[in-house]
Amino acid sequence: MPLEIAVVGAGTMGAGIAQVCATVGLPVVLVDVSDEQLRRGRASITNSLGKLEAKGALPRPAAEIESVVRTSTDVSDASRAAVVIEAVFEDVAVKTELFERLDRVAGPATIFASNTSSISITRLAAATKRPDRVVGLHFMNPVPVMGIVEVIRGLDTSDQTVAAVKRLAEKLGKRAVESRDVPGFIANRVLMPMINEAVFALAEGVGSAEDIDAMLQGLNFPLGPLALADLIGLDVCLAILEVLQRDFGDPKYRPAPLLRQYVAGGRLGRKSGRGFHLYA
Ligand code: NAD
Repeated sequence: MPLEIAVVGAGTMGAGIAQVCATVGLPVVLVDVSDEQLRRGRASITNSLGKLEAKGALPRPAAEIESVVRTSTDVSDASRAAVVIEAVFEDVAVKTELFERLDRVAGPATIFASNTSSISITRLAAATKRPDRVVGLHFMNPVPVMGIVEVIRGLDTSDQTVAAVKRLAEKLGKRAVESRDVPGFIANRVLMPMINEAVFALAEGVGSAEDIDAMLQGLNFPLGPLALADLIGLDVCLAILEVLQRDFGDPKYRPAPLLRQYVAGGRLGRKSGRGFHLYA
């Protein structure tokens, strides 16, 4: 019996992570506080696997892959997992509280891997009695499509833990790049200031959302920065920029007021049907 993976948080990322684990034959328990999110997460897995099956891109029938994913609203169901992958809200308080609870229920050898985009792994590790077994494993969105992950080593993360999550990434078909534990790591340290600048440019009327995105796509980015922000989720982008601003103490990371306004207004991007662009 292959080792079980627990994925905590069944949102955009958690559902995708559960799907790729199941696809390579790892049994998964997908945990969320919300039944509704678990239902949505499962629907998104069914939908994505169905599309991949139609393209002939799955190693086994979609139904067989999906059958190894169970769902739960009880975090203690993560207790049997060899690796817990945390993908809850990008909020230090939510994540540290979860890590404290997981630390009490999980076996002593269980590795805690956080999918955080920007929060210090060292800080999350300090909420547990196993800081050597806490690591960052940052997947990219959409998880089934993107071929790279960031592996982040906290102050006390052991070499064995880093090696174990790199092996897991390889099994999932993802290249692993290592980043030091600095706010935003590599990906969002570079990406979020670009997205934020695009929002400032939009707010100042430098160009329309369509033209700002077209310009950057013309520079060979596969998506424009505003369309990418819509894909990531504007609430997630705002949370990451707030971490960068606070943890570096540098005003250059201040979130664009227009980004805050869109989030306050519920325009969260694709997941709410509207962000900088409209979605069907
Ligand atoms: P999301 O809002 O889509 O999903 C978060 C889920 O966590 C929700 O279903 C919520 O009910 C659940 N949750 C909240 N608190 C919980 C708890 N205590 N226990 C169990 N479940 C809980 O968010 P997302 O976009 O999937 O992001 C999740 C994490 O992944 C964040 O840390 C984010 O920074 C990171 N991330 C996001 C992206 C992206 O493009 N969206 C990319 C890489 C990494």
